[in-house]
Amino acid sequence: MSDAVSYSVRDGVAVITMNNPPVNGLGSVLRPGIMDGIRKAGSDPAVKAVVIIGSAKAFSGGADIREFNTPKMLVPPSLPEINDAQDQCPKPMVAAIGGFALGGGCELALGCHYRVALPKSQIGLPEVKLGLLPGSGGTQRLPRVVGAAQGIQMMTTGNPVPAEKAVQLGLVDEIVQGDLLQGALSFAKKLIEQKKGPKRIRDMSVKVDGDPKQFFDKARAEVARASRGFPAPLEIVACVEAAATRPFDEGRRFERERFAVLVEGSESKALRHMFFAERQVTKIPDVPEDTPTRDIKRAAVIGAGTMGGGIAMNFANAGIPVSMMDVTEEAVRKGFEKIRANYAATVSKGRLKQEEMDKRVSLIKTTTKLEDAKDADIVIEAVFERMDVKQDMFRKLDAIMKPGAILATNTSTLDVNAIADVTKRPQDVIGTHFFSPANVMRLLEVVRGAKTAKDVLATTMKLGKAIKKVPVVSGVCDGFIGNRMVEKYGQQSLFLLDEGCSPQQVDAAATKWGMAMGPLAMGDMAGLDIGWEIRKRRYVERPNFVYSRVGDRIAELGRFGQKTGKGWYKYNLPDRKPIPDPEVEAIIQKYRTENKIKTRSISDEEIVERLIYALVNEAAYILEEGIALRASDIDMVYLTGYGFPAYRGGPMFYADTVGLPKVLAAIEKFQKGYRGEVWKPAPLLVKLAREGKKFNG
Ligand code: NAD
Repeated sequence: MSDAVSYSVRDGVAVITMNNPPVNGLGSVLRPGIMDGIRKAGSDPAVKAVVIIGSAKAFSGGADIREFNTPKMLVPPSLPEINDAQDQCPKPMVAAIGGFALGGGCELALGCHYRVALPKSQIGLPEVKLGLLPGSGGTQRLPRVVGAAQGIQMMTTGNPVPAEKAVQLGLVDEIVQGDLLQGALSFAKKLIEQKKGPKRIRDMSVKVDGDPKQFFDKARAEVARASRGFPAPLEIVACVEAAATRPFDEGRRFERERFAVLVEGSESKALRHMFFAERQVTKIPDVPEDTPTRDIKRAAVIGAGTMGGGIAMNFANAGIPVSMMDVTEEAVRKGFEKIRANYAATVSKGRLKQEEMDKRVSLIKTTTKLEDAKDADIVIEAVFERMDVKQDMFRKLDAIMKPGAILATNTSTLDVNAIADVTKRPQDVIGTHFFSPANVMRLLEVVRGAKTAKDVLATTMKLGKAIKKVPVVSGVCDGFIGNRMVEKYGQQSLFLLDEGCSPQQVDAAATKWGMAMGPLAMGDMAGLDIGWEIRKRRYVERPNFVYSRVGDRIAELGRFGQKTGKGWYKYNLPDRKPIPDPEVEAIIQKYRTENKIKTRSISDEEIVERLIYALVNEAAYILEEGIALRASDIDMVYLTGYGFPAYRGGPMFYADTVGLPKVLAAIEKFQKGYRGEVWKPAPLLVKLAREGKKFNG
């Protein structure tokens, strides 16, 4: 037996202990040991009951992700074989659940005949989050315990249930107060005394509310609606139906079959890619993981506008006191009121307790004096997007901030090096590019300047995680990773209008494909004035950057999007539903006529290809220039900051799925079309396509 599993017998109870930190992943070091333990206990006449236990923190988190895609995954026995051995064991078997039992860990617990848990334990089958279904009997055993409705609910959301709820559902037999092993042993001894034998879940039947056909038809319709065409949730319903209507072994076979289909499907591959992408994102090749970091105990935010308020909330949410400064009392008051209103809305939705809101609000101090920032360990500047304003601010911050403080800028387009260089400590300067609304969006681009110190970068990445963001490193360039790409995407969306599409046609094609929002509706949300300002700057700075001027025509009329009730659409505010506007159609048509643009009918497929490949091609430049560290980081940016559908795995993964030669061929075709001069295939794309390689390894 491996060291990761120990076996002992106490007063007639065999104890199989799993010890594979950090989460007792059911890897090749655990499975054989568990199997040996079950066999030994089964054949030892002195053993009357069995307890399987992990640590107080983790019963088991399921499959060991470190062994994914390695031969170790296939080392026998498999989890289904262990489950069969559990079913065949003639002695009652108790799972003692500390911490969490998730995925395969939950299936191991369901293979046991009884379950006890600590009060704070969590139990669930989250496979759906990776586009999969529980593949070791979970879909067959869970509904036999909790009923079809609850089983579907748990497995299609993937959300675990806490111990107390698990008791109500019959999933846990008893909550243990105090020491888990002692509690499990006394539970096992009670079983022996009361002569209770194994209670196999496979022998139970599934409780279905009402007529099974009606029940499952309704469940299918509801799940289809909620899952927007994702295959896994519907497959889960089908498996639960099999559990309810077929013998156990047949249901198991059906589950295996459906699991195999999902594993090979593009959705699950994309979701698994994103799962690993998120784990990779904080790894920086030349900044070792043990790089010492600076302590961040206090923060300061400069500017109490749209971004400043949201950024301050992030610190308060993480329990870090923060001061928020703006030039006038009025600006500060408005910023603070907005924060209060945001928290109050969360409280009224029942997602935050009033005491918690009070605690968080009390961590935010407001001021009109810049000096109040001086003791902060990090200061984040979120003032107007103008180089002179930012440089002036950084000179002042350089003069007042304590030595070792991190000076961060939330600029979305300006050169972080030019900001750093006005200070005497450019090594302490970094970009922290939050996305709006900053208290909600998960993405944080961490912009590494030419002189940014490694420990400043490491500290900012760590802080990013502490405030529950997904921090992605970006080099300095105009727009960094996300906005530099989105500019090409927006550029194509306007050319599509020139050529004959309506805003609603472009947006509908994008959302049907899976984007959370179409490019024009997104512009309305962000404010069309922002893009307009950038374009005006570009006309001067980069006169050869080609735009359709149709966007300017809209902005010149004061149609700035949702904030003015009119943009590419009109709005019946406060309702933010975009309504197609004939006035916009007329503006676009006039622009086409004036510029003698020949229109044509454009398919949804071409719309999507032009939008998405515009992202992909720019991303290939970004990768080649070393602005992004890896393709999966770019995927992460799009998933967490731009509403890219997770089941497509990000723009780079999607391009890999389509095949780079096909992507390149499409771009070469677009080169010959309207405004074809903007399509210059990135050398990296050309190279990889020729070599038959992919962006993501
Ligand atoms: P905003 O206009 O809503 O807020 C800016 C605030 O800064 C105002 O309250 C203003 O009074 C204050 N301010 C200006 N000069 C100041 C000074 N010298 N000292 C103190 N306060 C000063 O702007 P915003 O949308 O919050 O953007 C702020 C920064 O964040 C910009 O650099 C912007 O590019 C960037 N950003 C914005 C978004 C977005 O979607 N709005 C997203 C990412 C990044």
